[in-house]
Amino acid sequence: MVEGHRYFFNPRSYQGPLVFFGDALDVFKHCLKGSDVFSLKAILPWADKNPERLEKILVALGKLEMIDLGEKFSHELSIDRLLKKQRRMMVWMQLTDVCNLRCPYCYIHKKPTSMDIELGKKLISKIVNDSANAGFEEVVFKLAGGEPTLCWEQGRTLIDWAEKKFSDSEVRVKFHIITNATLLPDSLLKYLVMGKLGISVSLDGVGIWHDQQRFYAGGRGSFLDVEKNLDTLLAHGIRPPILTTVTSSNLRGITKLAEYCWHRDLSFRFSLYREVTSSTLELKHDNEEIIRELLHCYSWMEDNLPLERDL
Ligand code: SF4
Repeated sequence: MVEGHRYFFNPRSYQGPLVFFGDALDVFKHCLKGSDVFSLKAILPWADKNPERLEKILVALGKLEMIDLGEKFSHELSIDRLLKKQRRMMVWMQLTDVCNLRCPYCYIHKKPTSMDIELGKKLISKIVNDSANAGFEEVVFKLAGGEPTLCWEQGRTLIDWAEKKFSDSEVRVKFHIITNATLLPDSLLKYLVMGKLGISVSLDGVGIWHDQQRFYAGGRGSFLDVEKNLDTLLAHGIRPPILTTVTSSNLRGITKLAEYCWHRDLSFRFSLYREVTSSTLELKHDNEEIIRELLHCYSWMEDNLPLERDL
């Protein structure tokens, strides 16, 4: 048990004990007292300003079976729609096979090729029709690579074009770029600030933990460049989820990375390295070691949960 935090448990649900804190705790406590969406917005100033966040929290609490999202909520928000299994089509667009980094676990065969704009437009046109005919509610285009910021102008052209194509469709369209964040073109930042797309950033550790497996073609580590761009994103209110590949090289740095993300309020996801034949390094970790380091990391997180705020 973690001191200073409150645990909740619904004996009628399959969920185990849950720890809530921050905004989720505030919402949950008020729901227990019978608040509905309107009163939540009146009591919690952030909820009025950010109804999408309130909606996300309510839906998460509903899915965890901690509140009943019945009549009281379903008329007031689009929760009804969110609770239904959203029919979402994910489309990966590999904008280029070029990359400025040389991560040893990379499975991309680097070639000086990039997506032909006309081909991209054809693909989008087909997806506009097919997604509607198949009853999808949303299409998410994931811009990836190689390193997609190296071809950002193509990406931007396709986003603008797709937005127009989808404007007459019932299907919503969204975009998301997955980047190594060594580059942050001004126009990409502008699009991010305008909410035209989302962003995820690959970061494998802090300082040397990142640098030893995410370096440029010349061998220089990329951490400082990524950190600078992360700071720029944060300064503009953009908090990209962090994607981390855990290998034998950075395994012992994951707790430090968790700490780094925690202090910046960034969510993060660890993915374990999967062997690729092209790798020049021995990156496979041993299971016991990974379990030990993950437990160490989780224990750090447990010791550092945010303090519960008083109502
Ligand atoms: S940043 Fe991505 S594409 Fe580039 S080398 Fe690393 S893993 Fe491969």
